[in-house]
Order: sequence, then C-alpha cells, then structure tokens
Amino acid sequence: MGIVEFTKAQVTAVPHVDDAACRACRKCAARAVCRSKAIVQIDPGEPPVIDPSKCYGCGACLTACPFDAIVRQEPATAS
Ligand code: SF4
Ligand code: SF4
Repeated sequence: MGIVEFTKAQVTAVPHVDDAACRACRKCAARAVCRSKAIVQIDPGEPPVIDPSKCYGCGACLTACPFDAIVRQEPATAS
C-alpha cells in the first residue's frame, strides 16, 4: 500500500523544462539520464520537452541538468 501511495505522488510530480533557463545544450545531460526516454529534443538548439506520458517522476533529470533548467512544480490550476 505504501508503494502505491509513493507511486501516485511521483506520477503527479512530472517536471518540465524552464525554457528561460535551458541552454539547449548540444547533448542534454538531463536527457542522457532519463531512463524512460521521456525527454525529447525535437530540434537541435531548442530546449527539450518532457513527455508526461513517459515520465515516471524519478527526478534524475532535475539534478542532472547543470543549469537547473528542469523544474518541478505543482500545477497551480488544472486547466
Ligand atoms: S535541460 Fe539542461 S542539460 Fe538539457 S538542454 Fe536544457 S540546459 Fe542543457
Ligand atoms: S523525472 Fe525521471 S522519468 Fe521524468 S523526465 Fe526526469 S529523468 Fe525522465
């Protein structure tokens, strides 16, 4: 039961890329550590995006990005 609760908390904590902070690195360090390939870089030179359907909220990318461009925040409004 505890594991289920933990998993639910993780799923709701999908991070996103802060475009203002992201340097659009040639090799995204955050993308490199994502084991579920949830971080996709559509165009070189553009910030990557996180696919929430693949992300399981492990948080590895948050510490991997050297520019703190991956942030996790609770959604203020669910629109
Ligand atoms: S998320 Fe971080 S590591 Fe990835 S491209 Fe942006 S700044 Fe670079
Ligand atoms: S939280 Fe984990 S699964 Fe989600 S994008 Fe970051 S590294 Fe990938």
